[in-house]
Amino acid sequence: MAPLGTDEDRDDDAFQPRWELLGDTPRALGSVTLDLNHLLHRAHPWKAHGVFGQEDFTELTEAGALEGRAELLLDARPVRQEGRLIARVRGFCRATLRLTCVRCLVDFSAPLEAEIDAAFAVGSDPAVKNKNWRFEEDVEYLPDGVLTLSHLVEEELLLTLPMNPVCFSGCAGLCAGCGADLNRAPCTCRASEPQGPFAALKSLRST
Ligand SMILES: [Zn+2]
Ligand SMILES: [Zn+2]
Repeated sequence: MAPLGTDEDRDDDAFQPRWELLGDTPRALGSVTLDLNHLLHRAHPWKAHGVFGQEDFTELTEAGALEGRAELLLDARPVRQEGRLIARVRGFCRATLRLTCVRCLVDFSAPLEAEIDAAFAVGSDPAVKNKNWRFEEDVEYLPDGVLTLSHLVEEELLLTLPMNPVCFSGCAGLCAGCGADLNRAPCTCRASEPQGPFAALKSLRST
């Protein structure tokens, strides 16, 4: 009988992070770090599945309040590239944020999900020291080799944030004249005399 396969047996390119593969209850990852110095000296991957709370993020909190907990699924493994060892970090993170619609100013829930595929190396970036560095690469250098998971998740989720969040694509917004929410009811001020800054200009011109 063939031995049962393990995660370690899968080759690097076959790795496909999937939420449903995880049977374990996620644990709190608030202060968890990954020491790349250790990872790069081991032959097998390091995996994480866990959750973060609002308190684990600083920048994301400025955009909106976290609803529930943010979740992370991660697989980090050493990969040899251009003759040196780097850490390839792949996975997914997801969270639901409370955002304010720029059109109607109503708060709404925005589910965010980001795919993670990043590469890290320990030390200082050779491209900074050597202007003739020939590699065009997307490797992030960590001087102390320590990757903080909450920072990684926060960065990835921030990238998925909409610049101008809208509660739904057809949101009609607020009436510029009377401020009525046009999603709830048609505005009554349109039928009568226009109000607001343009109406004031009009009355100035007519005198
Ligand atoms: Zn809206
Ligand atoms: Zn109006």
